Amino acid sequence: MNCIFCKIAKKELKSSVVLETENVFAFDDINPQAPVHVVVIPKAHILDITKLGPVLPEIFDVIAKVSAIKKIKSSGFRVVMNNGPDSGQAVPHLHFHVLGGRKLDWPPG
Ligand code: AMP
Ligand code: ZN
Repeated sequence: MNCIFCKIAKKELKSSVVLETENVFAFDDINPQAPVHVVVIPKAHILDITKLGPVLPEIFDVIAKVSAIKKIKSSGFRVVMNNGPDSGQAVPHLHFHVLGGRKLDWPPG
């Protein structure tokens, strides 16, 4: 399958790895929108939230660990998931953005 995030999870495509667990992979976003911008994905090709299975707790455990690794656990951070065309989801493989390291605006556009 020609999915960029599947290739990253399989290490067929180079990425800046932040954390890897059995079913989850976290890497620095190539086009960061904040000083810390990490993408967290299930290794399995899951299209979006409507197809999400039992991997969710592991994803959120990795998100918490990423916040500690990136030293934004106490300063705070935002977790964003774009789902489908109206959200601007560009990569059709479920992923969570972890953003922090600066004061973030609200509401998002
Ligand atoms: P979304 O718009 O929610 O689908 O987010 C996709 C994200 O993936 C964007 O923030 C991109 O900058 C990021 N991205 C795309 N290709 C790569 C890559 N090869 N390595 C790291 N991040 C990427
Ligand atoms: Zn994929």
